[in-house]
Amino acid sequence: MTFSDWGGRLVTFPEDQARRYRESGMWSNDPTGQRLHQIATRFPDRPAVISAVDSMSFAELDRRTDQIAAGLVGLGFRRLDPVIFQLTNRLETVLAWYGCVKAGIVPVATLAAHRMHEIGHISRKVGAVGHITEARTAGFDLLAFAREHAAGHPSVRILISVGDEEGEDGGNVTRLEQLGLAIDPDAARAVVEQIEAQIDPLDVVAFQLSGGTTGVPKVIPRIHTEYWNNGLFYAQRLGWDEHTKVAHLIPIIHNAGISCGLHAAHSVGACLVLATADAPSAFELMARTESTAVLIGHGHYQAVLGPEFDAARPFLTRVVLSGAKVPAELFERVDDGAEHWAGQLFGMSEGLFTVTPPDSPAQARRTTVGTPVAADDEVRILEPGTEHAVPEGGIGELCCRGPYTIPGYFDAPDHNRQAFTSDGFYRTGDLASLAVIDGERYLSIEGRIKDLINRGGEKVNAEELELLLLEHPGVADVAVVAMPDPRLGEKACAYLVATHGDQLPLSAIQEHLANLGVAKFKWPERLEWVPSLPRTTVNKIDKKELRAEIAAKLSAEADTRHLVV
Ligand code: AMP
Repeated sequence: MTFSDWGGRLVTFPEDQARRYRESGMWSNDPTGQRLHQIATRFPDRPAVISAVDSMSFAELDRRTDQIAAGLVGLGFRRLDPVIFQLTNRLETVLAWYGCVKAGIVPVATLAAHRMHEIGHISRKVGAVGHITEARTAGFDLLAFAREHAAGHPSVRILISVGDEEGEDGGNVTRLEQLGLAIDPDAARAVVEQIEAQIDPLDVVAFQLSGGTTGVPKVIPRIHTEYWNNGLFYAQRLGWDEHTKVAHLIPIIHNAGISCGLHAAHSVGACLVLATADAPSAFELMARTESTAVLIGHGHYQAVLGPEFDAARPFLTRVVLSGAKVPAELFERVDDGAEHWAGQLFGMSEGLFTVTPPDSPAQARRTTVGTPVAADDEVRILEPGTEHAVPEGGIGELCCRGPYTIPGYFDAPDHNRQAFTSDGFYRTGDLASLAVIDGERYLSIEGRIKDLINRGGEKVNAEELELLLLEHPGVADVAVVAMPDPRLGEKACAYLVATHGDQLPLSAIQEHLANLGVAKFKWPERLEWVPSLPRTTVNKIDKKELRAEIAAKLSAEADTRHLVV
């Protein structure tokens, strides 16, 4: 596989933009694995990763990932082979990531929670050659799943397991923990350098997934020239250096995990404190390691308000909140107007990140998501569906272009025509406005037009779920909408019209989705059976009305519960 084999399916940056980013230094010619090696050479003895159970210095991380890269080559992988990742937050995920990246192999950032519906589609789309999976997660045998998936697959040939203590290398499964261990570190380094000499800066370094606006998830190609720098810009914006300890609770494999956690920390020699989503143990790890920075997604807003956060709080000088409006009490809990600083992040796997600048006033940090992290980022607020800017201060669709924002999804020409303006600005599907505070302009997120549910940071595409629900013979019509949830922000609620008037229980619908191999986080958590769905004057399903209806219903139910108690 070479870059040109993907040529027709990859959208390249227009030449004038590419030249500008090279000249301004926003783009790099060094392959991503080399960037890690450069940092490891500068800070060999500093901690690179600390998890609840183990840790590694930069020198160890660099050496071990060289060996894994060489081991992967030995298994038969070739440069640009895509590899499906199904791993949770653990040190081995970091090793697998850099091992692949150094070998020029392309991690596909799928989730441990994904099942056949997602993995089957994506692995075929990208032509995955390998599958790296945790042996067991939350009672599910992912390794058996990987074997089942590979059987009869057109391209998946190599399986790698993580954490399979009893497993033996053999058959077509290799244990990551053993991979490359016997290779002399100098020989492994030589293999990596040989591969890096062939890497084109425009080569894909990783495939991320989009929550998407229509149908199936879209594949986001991130390339060597920009991906590491995306993390670096974020780290620089927050003033991090080699003394920073960056805790991360949400999946590290998400773009936010890679860009704001892994790459951002390592781009400046900082330590990644790799926690998990379980808030009490994450806060305990943060306190024990004296973590100085953390990204808190809205799924953890409540946990931060609870007493367990107390132990972690004294060490935190940068708390970045992201995913939903920040309540005043949350902001005050983490920001004391002095050394304990809180700010906000807005970002997406497609690229653009905005963060509140460290020296911005408290009002900007509490009410806005700040400004783009790169000087060459360009932002426009357009009337949805048009290329006209809204009047100054008005609300419109956030559109962006820049050195690390993709110029197109992978192999999606039709979708790309709608998803980008004629001059290459990505239409985010988010509604935003520009707020002026103390004479500076900051971005404020005002909602979204794209049809998805943001379940604690995991995006559920409404149309994808609706099509799956319609496959049930008992469902004649359906509309999936977000319903408010105090812990996760939003959950999926399905409004359904029964085929023969029979209302199926939630368990029957969930069983249907399980049989289709749909990841559990996408399943609706409430059903509302109705005789028909409301329509707008142009005969589209009126989701606005449904969203308002379910929100009112939930609020009335909460009031009733309150009265009963
Ligand atoms: P992802 O690509 O999964 O990281 O999701 C990106 C999307 O998450 C954005 O397009 C927004 O819809 C949403 N998002 C990210 N940050 C924020 C935020 N601070 N406030 C509201 N929505 C956000």
